[in-house]
Amino acid sequence: MIVMKFGGSSLANGERIRYVAELVKRELPRKPVLVVSAMGDTTDHLLEAAAMALETGTVSIERITELHKSTIRELHIDMPKITPLLAELQILLVGISLIKELTGRTRDYLVSFGERLAARIVAAYCQSIGMETKALDAWEGGFVSDSHFTAAELVPESWNAIPEKLMPLIEGRILPVLTGFIAKDRKGAITTLGRGGSDLSATMVAAACEAEEVQIWKDVDGILTADPRIVPEARPVEAVTYEEAAELAYFGAQVLHPRAMQPCMRTKIPVWVKNSYNPSAPGTRIVAAVKKTRPVLGITSRNQVTLVDIVSTRMIGQPGFLEELFADFAKYGISVDMVATSEVSVSVTMDAIYDLEPLKKDLSRIADVEIKTGRAIVTIIGDVDRSSEILHEAFGVCVGLGIPVQMVSHGASKVNISFIVNDTQSTEVVRGLHMHFIGANFSKGSTACI
Ligand code: ASP
Ligand code: MG
Repeated sequence: MIVMKFGGSSLANGERIRYVAELVKRELPRKPVLVVSAMGDTTDHLLEAAAMALETGTVSIERITELHKSTIRELHIDMPKITPLLAELQILLVGISLIKELTGRTRDYLVSFGERLAARIVAAYCQSIGMETKALDAWEGGFVSDSHFTAAELVPESWNAIPEKLMPLIEGRILPVLTGFIAKDRKGAITTLGRGGSDLSATMVAAACEAEEVQIWKDVDGILTADPRIVPEARPVEAVTYEEAAELAYFGAQVLHPRAMQPCMRTKIPVWVKNSYNPSAPGTRIVAAVKKTRPVLGITSRNQVTLVDIVSTRMIGQPGFLEELFADFAKYGISVDMVATSEVSVSVTMDAIYDLEPLKKDLSRIADVEIKTGRAIVTIIGDVDRSSEILHEAFGVCVGLGIPVQMVSHGASKVNISFIVNDTQSTEVVRGLHMHFIGANFSKGSTACI
């Protein structure tokens, strides 16, 4: 069997759903399971409706109702099933407007309607053109999560529950159309796996059912060498490893959910990222090992990073100093990204979302602390065996641009090299590096062929 996942933009309207159904029909002999996101920007619209109910007391689901009802009309399907869902959504929003409270738990319940509506519509349309289908809410497909609302993790029993629920359908030649993004915790409350979480739902189905492959259909030609909003000449990469895909996703390319690779990494199931607006484009293949043709695969960046510099002579030959230090970060719930150490100093970075004053006060017992805001992490994802060459050339680019590098981190076996520059300079650095390693490398390659 295979898993086909379609994101919101692939299901934006009736025409797109028709198109998706054709893609699925072609794959029927391979026994697909469909995983769907909410149509278009429905998740955002649901969150906006909640914000409005909360702030002004006004309840309006018009935009959401209109999109789904007009899609049903466009597809000529009969859909009494969505009416109770829309009614329930309306009641929930009234509840939010009265209580004037939106907890993570309520938020997850609210956004779940997007995927649940989409799955029913896609299943009904596929049925209407001759496929045998069944729409399933994630919990009917075996998805059990912890209770970490808005960013839940699937729990181990999902690994057995998913195939138990889905395999009988697949073997009976019924096409399961499953909601991505959502699950239920052990007590039965609806949870979500974090924004963009349908990717993870798809890879989880594939891993648990031992699928032949996962196809993730998006609105871009695959995983790109850089964020196209920063680097217009960014291009899709042909093949990457799971680790590289996760790095590219985390540090800015934002094509995939950062945790989506985990289930397939464990089971080595290939993942394809394809463009439903351009299906003949080859897309990106994500697998366990890739033959490297270039030293650098992609360049990403993250802005709004804070750098904390900690200097203390107490560090010298002092076992347990770092433990003490990081215990303080943990105490304030601060998640650290990059770390660099010397004999007498430690530099760490984090997203600029934390109040660092209490931490600074605590740490000043043991060290001098300096907080530097307005930084960016630039990350080069490349071939670890060629890291000296990459570092040499990357620093050459920074010197050429006259941009000082403030901190560097490069793991022993990791695929990435990260460094810190000022926020205002990150675009220039990313463009410069992209031009050097990826722009230039193509011509270098062709010269070598001659
Ligand atoms: N609909 C959800 C979101 O927009 C999940 C997803 O698209 O994967 O975040
Ligand atoms: Mg979406």
